[in-house]
Amino acid sequence: MPELPEVEAWVRQLDPLVTRTPIERAGPAHIATVKTFDPPLRSLEGRSFAGALRRGKNLVFPTADGELVLRVHLMSAGRLRYHAPGAKTPKTPMFRLTFADGGELVLTEAGKKKRAGVWLFTSEGLEAELSHLGPDALGIGSDRLVEILERERRQLHPLLRDQRALAGIGRAHANEILWGAKLSPFKVSTDLSAGETMRLAKAIDDDLLRALALREAGKSDAVVYRIHGHFGEPCPLGHDTLRRVAFEEHTITYCPTCQTGGKELKDRRLSRLLR
Ligand SMILES: [Zn+2]
Repeated sequence: MPELPEVEAWVRQLDPLVTRTPIERAGPAHIATVKTFDPPLRSLEGRSFAGALRRGKNLVFPTADGELVLRVHLMSAGRLRYHAPGAKTPKTPMFRLTFADGGELVLTEAGKKKRAGVWLFTSEGLEAELSHLGPDALGIGSDRLVEILERERRQLHPLLRDQRALAGIGRAHANEILWGAKLSPFKVSTDLSAGETMRLAKAIDDDLLRALALREAGKSDAVVYRIHGHFGEPCPLGHDTLRRVAFEEHTITYCPTCQTGGKELKDRRLSRLLR
């Protein structure tokens, strides 16, 4: 699933493109993709977008009149692309929005499961819908991070991925950040020393800014992720083999030497705990 740096790179790329000319046609859209019906998508027609923004892992496009906001969530397999006027575009995308100059904003989704979504809200409706999101992870800073760590009292990996606590990080960047901070994914947030908290705040900034620069340069997961998806390979620092451990419905990748004092973490799958 695209996380904060990838979505931010797309938003920066789309921002100048979607504001060029007014919206001529909003739709058609696949019935599984459109999640709202009031206001109808067609009420976008004739209006212009003020730009493209990011809220957590969502792309949001407010109209210039301040009344409506289009929200897009790509889930794991959705892709949102701008096609210049006259460019060849997919025949049956999940959602298509055509601008007055013939440019198109097109959502496609690979695979059979259709999970990406498009919503149209009033401005107030969007705020209510996204009010559960915590502060954005990009530029969170150590003061606000301390508040979150103290308040939540949870293991670091699931806490970093919780959009209600901190918005934008998923399991890939949680792996990257905890490796960068040299902290165990299972360490409890209230057990961090002041020095560890500072390391975590710095690792969040360093990792997200590095990944954003790489995403803006068009780099793929293989370049952006140093730990995530690399279990069984050497730690980038060269002194151990990256391991993975099952946790809830997914796996966590980590380096024992960097993060857990050399200890292998035990499986924490729910199914195992329930057995
Ligand atoms: Zn290591």
